[in-house]
Amino acid sequence: MGNLVKTVVITGAGKGIGREIALVFLRSGWNVVAFSRTESDLVELTEESRHLKGSIHTVSGDASVSTDVSNLFAETSKHFGKADVLINNAGVFKSASFLDMTEDFFTAQWKANTLSTFLVSKLFAKDMVSRNSGQIINIISVAAKRPFISSGGYCSSKFAQDGLTKVMREELKTHNVRVTNIYPGAAFTNSWLGSGVDKKRLMTVSDVAETVFKVVNLDDILVIEEIVLRPVEGDL
Ligand code: NAP
Repeated sequence: MGNLVKTVVITGAGKGIGREIALVFLRSGWNVVAFSRTESDLVELTEESRHLKGSIHTVSGDASVSTDVSNLFAETSKHFGKADVLINNAGVFKSASFLDMTEDFFTAQWKANTLSTFLVSKLFAKDMVSRNSGQIINIISVAAKRPFISSGGYCSSKFAQDGLTKVMREELKTHNVRVTNIYPGAAFTNSWLGSGVDKKRLMTVSDVAETVFKVVNLDDILVIEEIVLRPVEGDL
């Protein structure tokens, strides 16, 4: 019976979109491994999920640090045996013009958005390949599709994440590992606090989380390669 319950690993599950994805899977009875940097966010998430059908195991760490990623993999194996689905959601958005951007500012976004996807995916994909089964979903952004002013660090890291994950799809498909890229437009999270943008103009985190859940529940004979989600009135 226990073997029928599937396990999803979600990076950046402490806040925003990742947190909502965790709750959607928990409501449906999945095992969830929630990974994020801030421990107190994970404690709160565990508390909120107390009465939900699924089981949660939290791991704190940084997805761009390989020892933390190895620990995430070990904890997942120990608690739930394996990951059926990996969701690369951890990411950071910060705004600065190209001319003002410092090297540290640029590198920090590349680490959080691109390097994290590489490190986490590589470890979990190797295990999926050995089992000839698995699914990887990447939360990218419309900022991997078109440029946004004062978002050079973010756009370049998201374009790079997109390129890497498309290569992953090609290399992993012969091992029955399906890779889906989701490109959300603006969704209301902390990233938008203080922006002055009307909340009603944005999608909700639940719009994105429910879309991810639909992808996971489709027939495993097919792969949804890409989904672009935008507020009806388009980008901001
Ligand atoms: P958020 O509210 O800021 O939450 C991001 C979560 O990721 C936080 O829990 C954060 O933990 C965690 N995180 C960040 N870097 C991490 C790292 N290196 N290792 C582990 N955890 C890390 O962000 P969000 O708006 O939900 O965004 C989630 C994803 O969706 C990102 O990839 C973002 O680029 C993408 N996205 C968002 C939007 C939007 O409008 N919100 C649109 C398109 C795409 P800490 O707070 O502890 O650092």
